[in-house]
Amino acid sequence: MNTLKIAIQKKGRLSEKSLILLEECGIKIDNNDRKLKAEAHNFPVEILFLRDDDIPQYVEQGVADIGILGENVVLEKNKNIKIVEKLGFAHCRMSLAIPKKEEYSSLKYFEHKKIATSYPNILQKFFNDQHIKVSIEEIGGSVEIATSIGLADAIFDIVSTGSTLQMNGLKEVERVAKSEAVLVSNMHLNVELNNILHKLIFRIQAVRHAVENKYILLNAPNTAIENICKLLPGMKSPTILPLANPGWSSIHSVIKEDEFWDVIEQLKSFGAQGILVIPIEKMIL
Ligand code: ATP
Ligand code: MG
Repeated sequence: MNTLKIAIQKKGRLSEKSLILLEECGIKIDNNDRKLKAEAHNFPVEILFLRDDDIPQYVEQGVADIGILGENVVLEKNKNIKIVEKLGFAHCRMSLAIPKKEEYSSLKYFEHKKIATSYPNILQKFFNDQHIKVSIEEIGGSVEIATSIGLADAIFDIVSTGSTLQMNGLKEVERVAKSEAVLVSNMHLNVELNNILHKLIFRIQAVRHAVENKYILLNAPNTAIENICKLLPGMKSPTILPLANPGWSSIHSVIKEDEFWDVIEQLKSFGAQGILVIPIEKMIL
């Protein structure tokens, strides 16, 4: 039987979250001794542990069938592979930053400036599109120190909170792209591998919907049911069960985690009581 080979980052910011995602999809992997390869017991996949920069090339060549990595690396490497699913972790942005004391008004600032980055392709494309000529200095890492050591006038790098920039006397002046972890695939998977991939994507979506949603239960007077159902439309529609106490019902529904705090006041104003919000383990739409 065919096995789908999944490349994930061996060591770094994506490794643990990639393994956790696979685990939440019910895929059990033994890799205590951190070998380069590990097989799952209960799903036809094999995990390859690689440097993230190498994953696009390996997936293009079919050494791995699919991979988990940052969109930033997918864009930079520009290989013939496709993004099949966004994964919702490792969110960051790719930004231009300059020394704090510099005045900045527009992208024109960068005309003929020297910019240090580990992402020369993304940066070059951005400035080509803007018709601005810049000189790009490619470096492997520690980009944030490039201006203070006199290597460049500005930098282009990954930013999440901005604290690294702060610490190095830089300010973020332009956000060029956004990135998150994505699942990429080889362009020519056979039917059997494609079926395994689709089963995996189905599981990933169930895990992600579960994380984004909560199960909500509350008690309300029957007169408020209509208003509350409008606020909590649920997956199809809310479940309504009569309480032993006449004139009252228990309402069960599903709510997006980030909408919860917005509706809670309204629920209370409609007379809702005993509101419980419970995590969902898996959610199939
Ligand atoms: P490797 O040794 O595998 O080449 P690396 O040093 O290139 O690793 P990491 O620093 O582990 O890479 O980052 C991996 C990915 O995590 C990045 O390509 C990016 O998508 C994402 N990432 C990097 N920094 C952050 C951050 N501060 N917040 C969120 N995500 C980030
Ligand atoms: Mg890397």
